[in-house]
Amino acid sequence: MLPLDDGRRLVIHLGMTGQVRVDNPAGAADPYDRAWWNLDDGGRLALRDVRRFGRVAVLGDDLSPLPTLASLGPEPFDPDLTPEVLWKALRSSTQRVKTQLLAQRVVAGVGNIYADEALWRARLHPGARTVSRPAAQRLLTAIREVLSEGIEHGGTTLRDYRAVDGSTGTNQHHLDCYGRAGQPCPRCSATLRRSVVDGRGTTHCPTCQRA
Ligand SMILES: [Zn+2]
Repeated sequence: MLPLDDGRRLVIHLGMTGQVRVDNPAGAADPYDRAWWNLDDGGRLALRDVRRFGRVAVLGDDLSPLPTLASLGPEPFDPDLTPEVLWKALRSSTQRVKTQLLAQRVVAGVGNIYADEALWRARLHPGARTVSRPAAQRLLTAIREVLSEGIEHGGTTLRDYRAVDGSTGTNQHHLDCYGRAGQPCPRCSATLRRSVVDGRGTTHCPTCQRA
């Protein structure tokens, strides 16, 4: 979401494969660039999107034209998001905890990779339908930790993710759980297990993520 001069915001939803890039307008054209904007400093902002699931909108305060955005939960680092707030939000639904995270309504910004990582770190079963107060506290801490570390490592590049300068992240080398099914749990050495939770591929530790 980028603020514009007239107070509105340019909103870019990356979808599955979208990449935002800042480069030089004289640079080589990319056949998968779907939209681009010339910036005041002479640079160019481009949206590259191979599968075209991305969305672009210019919005004021009314976010209702983008329903997924209008229903987004609080930012993960919002100080108003306390363990109590997260616990109450999770309690208001009987959906599985991982599904609630991916729906972006209890907290924004946690996708499949970071959900698996945070649930593993919080020792919480991805399929759990009830979350205790202490578990919600652990989960919030874990979400903030895994996101901070992901940002520190420049993101997780498995296939598509790129930073705005086109560089790849290194967080994929720091994952404890996601994508490691069949390998030992870094905490207890049990074999990490792959399953499907409400249609999403999931990895968890059958020993230390019981609750
Ligand atoms: Zn374990």
